[in-house]
Amino acid sequence: MGVGTRLITSVPFTYKPPDNIDAVTVTAVRREPKGNFHFMQRVFVLDKNKEPLIPCNPARARQLLKSGKATVYHRYPFTIILKDREGGNTQPIQIKIDPGSQTTGIAVVVEFKRGLCCVWAGELTHRGQQIRDGLLSRRQLRRGRRTRKLRYRKARFDNRNRPDGWLAPSLMSRVYTIETWVKRLMRYVPVTHLAMELVKFDIQAMVNPEISGVDYQQGELWGYEVREYLLEKFGRKCVYCGIKDVPLEIEHIVPKSRGGSNRVSNLTLACHPCNQQKGNQTADEFGHPNVQRLAKLPLKDASAVNATRWKLYETLQGFRLPIEIGTGGRTKYNRAVQNYPKTHWLDAVCVGESGQVVFVSLNHQPLVIKAVGRGNRQMTKPDKYGFPRATRQRKKVYFGFQTGDMAKARVTSGKKEGIYVGKVAVRASGSFNITTPTDTIQGINHRFFKTIHKSDGYNYMKGEQALLPMPKGRGFPRLKFR
Ligand SMILES: [Zn+2]
Repeated sequence: MGVGTRLITSVPFTYKPPDNIDAVTVTAVRREPKGNFHFMQRVFVLDKNKEPLIPCNPARARQLLKSGKATVYHRYPFTIILKDREGGNTQPIQIKIDPGSQTTGIAVVVEFKRGLCCVWAGELTHRGQQIRDGLLSRRQLRRGRRTRKLRYRKARFDNRNRPDGWLAPSLMSRVYTIETWVKRLMRYVPVTHLAMELVKFDIQAMVNPEISGVDYQQGELWGYEVREYLLEKFGRKCVYCGIKDVPLEIEHIVPKSRGGSNRVSNLTLACHPCNQQKGNQTADEFGHPNVQRLAKLPLKDASAVNATRWKLYETLQGFRLPIEIGTGGRTKYNRAVQNYPKTHWLDAVCVGESGQVVFVSLNHQPLVIKAVGRGNRQMTKPDKYGFPRATRQRKKVYFGFQTGDMAKARVTSGKKEGIYVGKVAVRASGSFNITTPTDTIQGINHRFFKTIHKSDGYNYMKGEQALLPMPKGRGFPRLKFR
């Protein structure tokens, strides 16, 4: 698709807000910057001493590679290394993270003179469940072995203690994989700032108004924070009928028509039918005195703080870079005003105050990264009766290849003649299998293979094109990292 075909476009649109939050109408005018300034997924660049430089356009990278001034250094994420150049100008660069339980969004945003621009994005899928299953099976195997072989051993299941701040391995794996990716990106990009979404809502701002009684009609951002707060406080369901996964409306416990205030302590969440049915009654009259009581109690700090996120925050502090903290309410607000669709990587782009105006190319494609681990330790494979069938050798690498490597097989003759790109499964005999996106070809000799990317515990795919709406504002409102 030619990028030039959609320069300077102007599309007005109306943003439809979530129920019960004041409507906003944003007229967007997108003016793409002139010159060589397209923001697709950029290519990471290293100088000849392997020092990271500002990522460049794919077109520029192609030029450099073609003219022989650079070579490919790394495939995922795509990185080139310049043969001659040393050093170069760099701008402030921020890695932004939106941690999720299944998938974490990662974005690399550069502060150009013209404004903030997303130059690279990824979606990292964790393997928490896989780790849980792995530990469970290990526990069961060990238990079986103990009862078979160590029946008279003294009990010692309870002889370990957990350090402070201990988290389950499945949760820690999320922290570790994110840390790994921040480290990796720091190798390829001259990162100066970090940002992450730490809490669901602004705890300080929310707990104080419960006590001091600040109205929630304080602007749009405040509305988003209030909403996140109420969702947390009332357990993400309708307080009256308990229904889940339906749009919830912000509801006045004592109706405004009866003198109820806009204070946070007078608000709750209800589904549309309940809200209608309740009408002009107070919660008490509607038969829910408990709601009235609960609403008065401020939510405890602890319930809004997610242990895994705090751990991640502590871990990120180890990088000794300024970290910008965002709330979930702020992320949603930023996404709504820029009218970006809900994806993990766009949430990452929208994290924090600096996420308010970030340019994202219309057809930006994130890298989809899936943590898959590095194999298992099982030494014997049983047959269907449970008897040992094959013993694994103490070797993973055969003829320079390991199962899971990305490789290209160029078969020059025979029935399987052709070019195949995919994942290798090695065999000691040297007759490998290769799995391409379409099928698996068996029994190709190792000498036809060439490595593209060594197995590193992750699978990679190209993400969906974003197909973004036009961003707000004219040109680039300038924002800076703090
Ligand atoms: Zn309801």
